[in-house]
Amino acid sequence: MKEKIITKNAEKTQEVGKLLATELRGGEVISLLGDLGGGKTTFTQGLATGLSVKETITSPTFTIMKKYPVEHNTIKNLYHLDLYRLSNPQELADLGFAEIAADPQNVTVIEWANKAKEIIPPENNLQIRFGWLGKDKREITFSTYSRSPACRQAGSEIPIRSGRTSKQTKGEVLY
Ligand code: ADP
Ligand code: MG
Repeated sequence: MKEKIITKNAEKTQEVGKLLATELRGGEVISLLGDLGGGKTTFTQGLATGLSVKETITSPTFTIMKKYPVEHNTIKNLYHLDLYRLSNPQELADLGFAEIAADPQNVTVIEWANKAKEIIPPENNLQIRFGWLGKDKREITFSTYSRSPACRQAGSEIPIRSGRTSKQTKGEVLY
């Protein structure tokens, strides 16, 4: 099942990210997919605010991965990845990705996750797709198809709590 949210400005997209932060407990791996300029980094900024990250989140395009300390009961670090320039998933594996993603004290957010979907663990994976609908209009689609009940729950709760749902489609993954 997929659930969609339409946002009308960048702040609204940040709010959706902030809302998702309230559902996280640690160990989640969040795949952000979709168009360039779709709002993936903007969404991550809101999510980071929700986790009380003090630093400003910028696009890690030239570093692949950036670690931010988090102030939270059960989450210690937010890892923000951008795989736009990744040519081979092995590069990511070499950075110790498996250990980072498996650590229940980390939340891992991955822009362009489709570039390394083979090595992203499915257990705690939540997929979110960003579509460009116009100058300020974006469509955010949550997949509720996840092996993790918590991620399925987040995927269906967030669109409802954000109050902007549109039609649901059953049985699809977003990759
Ligand atoms: P991505 O990381 O997916 O490439 P960014 O978050 O870096 O996208 O960029 C999105 C751009 O679109 C930003 O300049 C942001 O201000 C703008 N924008 C306009 N409307 C929205 C919206 N509704 N949601 C998110 N970003 C928006
Ligand atoms: Mg980005």
